[in-house]
Amino acid sequence: MKAADAERIYLDHAATTPLRLEARAAMEPFLFGTAFGNPSSLHYDGQLAKRALDSARDILAGALGCQFSEVAFTSGGTESDNAALLGVMLANRSRGDHLIVSQIEHEAVGDTARFLQTLGFSVTFLPVDPFGRVSPESVAEALTSQTVLVSIMHASNEVGTVQPLRQIAEIVHAHGAYLHTDAVQTFGQLPVTLEALGADLITVSAHKVYGPKGAGALVVRSGISFEPLLHGGGQERGRRSGTENVAAIAGFGEAVRLQLPERDTEAARLTSQRDFLLAALRDRIPTLVLNGHPAERLPNNLNVSFPGLDAESLLLSLDRAGISASSGSACASGSIEPSHVLTAMGLPEDCIHSAIRLTLGRGTTREEVVRTVEILTGIVERLSGRLGLPQGRGLPLR
Ligand SMILES: *Cc1c(COP(=O)(O)O)cnc(C)c1O
Repeated sequence: MKAADAERIYLDHAATTPLRLEARAAMEPFLFGTAFGNPSSLHYDGQLAKRALDSARDILAGALGCQFSEVAFTSGGTESDNAALLGVMLANRSRGDHLIVSQIEHEAVGDTARFLQTLGFSVTFLPVDPFGRVSPESVAEALTSQTVLVSIMHASNEVGTVQPLRQIAEIVHAHGAYLHTDAVQTFGQLPVTLEALGADLITVSAHKVYGPKGAGALVVRSGISFEPLLHGGGQERGRRSGTENVAAIAGFGEAVRLQLPERDTEAARLTSQRDFLLAALRDRIPTLVLNGHPAERLPNNLNVSFPGLDAESLLLSLDRAGISASSGSACASGSIEPSHVLTAMGLPEDCIHSAIRLTLGRGTTREEVVRTVEILTGIVERLSGRLGLPQGRGLPLR
């Protein structure tokens, strides 16, 4: 890494987080050391690896408030989402063929729901309000005698809005259907347990909680019929065949173990930094629009629009100035498509095209936030000036 990288400001923690050193240390014996055994092998070497899986599973079960046997390790959030939707819908055909998801789900849920449609299942895509919230009433209206599963994310990776899941869960359960939630963004920031959310299935991912990429978990409440995506050796109690990624899972466990006791104080710290960032930006850029819910949102998420400007220019300028941020909508292709989330929220075009997401994390300092305000204000003023848009007030920051 170049020395200059140390000075970069990373504000894209919703996309991924850096691996924490303790998690890396927990992985090392399984990557480079003598603990290379296959956890399914009955001999000493296998059992060494098995112990690492058991200990990570124990930590995840504690964190997610479920039984040890209800945690299945996967390759990440995407696989867990795919497995949840396909696994429950395929195994419960006798109960019905209807799935309900929201219009603002991560693609791992949205595209899997569309795939299920091609297999003949019927899917309802629930709208959201202008804050990005799914109303429990809309869930109640969409439920039919054929509904097997409802999948609503705990919080949006894009605008940070937290859903009223408990209320939704009550309605879903009163109807005899199951609730899955993608809690990838909230895990490590808010309480995420079967009990707290009222969910039957929960998706989490290691690399969003300072663990390694390529590991995740799916909780499936015991007693729910589930058809695995992967068939084979029957690992993970038949829910996910294939030799486990032992090193990554050990790192995942360690990251979660350390994150839990820090969670609430860190969430409070992030909330206060995020609120300061928003207030300081608002002060200098009066045209700024906050996207998502003002209060019911992830501690680390700020999603803002600058009507008249475009997100791509803002992000390129930020990147050149040393700040990594995102448009929020996953742009695997590199070009920014209008966000399906902001579109579903019914935002005006000029807000959709100028929305950027700043997501803070453990390493984010007050100094970085202050520098971000200065840099972003300068960029917005320069780009606005070029277009003849109204300028910010530019009050002194310190
Ligand atoms: C990142 C993310 C995923 C995908 O997780 P991977 O582990 O990267 O596959 C799914 N859902 C949400 C909400 C995410 O933020």
